[in-house]
Amino acid sequence: MEHYSPNAGWIEVIVGSMFSGKSEELIRRMRRAQIAKQKVQIFKPLIDDRYSENHIVSHAERRIESLAVRTAQDILEGTHKDTEVVGIDEGQFFDQALLDVANNLANQGKRVIIAGLDMDYLGNPFEPMPQLMAIAEDVHKTRAICVVCGHAATYTQRLIASQERVVVGAAGAYEARCRQCFEPHLAEEVAEASA
Ligand code: ADP
Ligand code: ZN
Repeated sequence: MEHYSPNAGWIEVIVGSMFSGKSEELIRRMRRAQIAKQKVQIFKPLIDDRYSENHIVSHAERRIESLAVRTAQDILEGTHKDTEVVGIDEGQFFDQALLDVANNLANQGKRVIIAGLDMDYLGNPFEPMPQLMAIAEDVHKTRAICVVCGHAATYTQRLIASQERVVVGAAGAYEARCRQCFEPHLAEEVAEASA
C-alpha cells in the first residue's frame, strides 16, 4: 500500500469470500516487494495442500513459493531476522496465536500481510480474521462474482453436505454468492436429508 516506509512494521489484512482474489492480491503485493528487492517469506497452513505443498496457487493458476507450517508459532520461529515482508495465506486456518505473532513481527519492523476468509460457510465471522482486521493498519476486502446472479459476492456457499467448519479439498464444494443468493443452511439441510 502507499506511504509504506521501510523499517516501520505494520499489518495488512486481505479478506473476502472464496474466489474473490485474496491469493492473487497477496501474490501481487509479495511480487512487488520482490521487485523492490525486499527480502520476503510466505507461509501457509499445512492443512491447505490442495494445489501445491510449497507454493500458494490462486484459482487462476498464479503461484508463488511458500512454506507450509503447522502453527502460528512456526511462522514466528521460521521468519528470518533479515526478512522485511512476511506474507501469510489462509489465515483463518491458524489459531488465535496468529494475533500475537503478527504483532510481534510488525513490532520488529516487518511488513506483515495476511490473507484469509472473513466468514465461514454459515456467514459467521471466521476467527482469527476478525481480530486481525481489528489490529491491522490496513484492511482490504476483495469481492467475487455471484455465480447465481452476477452481482458482487461476499459469501462462500457450501454445496456439499457437511457441518464441519473446515472442509478443504473437495472440488466443486464451494461457490461465491451475494447476500440475496446466499443460502447459509443449505449444507446442513443436505446433511440432515441424507442422514
Ligand atoms: P481466493 O484466494 O479469494 O479464493 P484466488 O485469488 O485464488 O481467490 O482466485 C481468484 C480468481 O478466481 C479470479 O481471478 C478468477 O479468475 C477466478 N474465479 C473463479 N470463480 C470466480 C467467481 N465466482 N468470482 C470471481 N472470480 C472467480
Ligand atoms: Zn446473487
